[in-house]
Amino acid sequence: MAHSAAEQSVDERELAFMRLALDQARNAWVLGEVPVGAIVVHEGTVVATGFNQPIGSCDPTAHAEVRALRAAAEVLGNYRLNHCTLYVTLEPCAMCAGAIQHARIAHLVWGAADPKTGACGSVIDLFAEARLNHHASVRGGVLAQECGELLAAFFAERRSRRRGPPGPEEVEEIVLE
Ligand code: ZN
Repeated sequence: MAHSAAEQSVDERELAFMRLALDQARNAWVLGEVPVGAIVVHEGTVVATGFNQPIGSCDPTAHAEVRALRAAAEVLGNYRLNHCTLYVTLEPCAMCAGAIQHARIAHLVWGAADPKTGACGSVIDLFAEARLNHHASVRGGVLAQECGELLAAFFAERRSRRRGPPGPEEVEEIVLE
């Protein structure tokens, strides 16, 4: 597959890790959840994974990032993840941006921008707020096309299968730019 000039400047390893996060997003899709996936990398090794599962787990906080952060903290035996990188296929929301900052994640890498709830520049940029004491470096738009296409395909499939108007339990659609 041809890569854009922007992607060519991205570290190959970074792309490989984002592809693992995409695999996690596909796990969410299999369970009927909006396909967003995340992984946590510590010293070059994947120590935790997570995918979006608020419906199945009856947990409004069960975003991919939160699930991956919880798993990483448990594996590493430390609630602080200072030397870790979090990869996530969709721009984190305000809740997840806060969780990433509380976890003291060193590097955040995200895929597709979320114009509706993105808290890394799309709606608000919580990582540009100097008054919040955080230390994460942020890189967005890594494999943005693949990450966005997976979401678009998921919502297209749901629309094609749905008969009648969306019900109250319908997942909220993420409209990408
Ligand atoms: Zn979130």
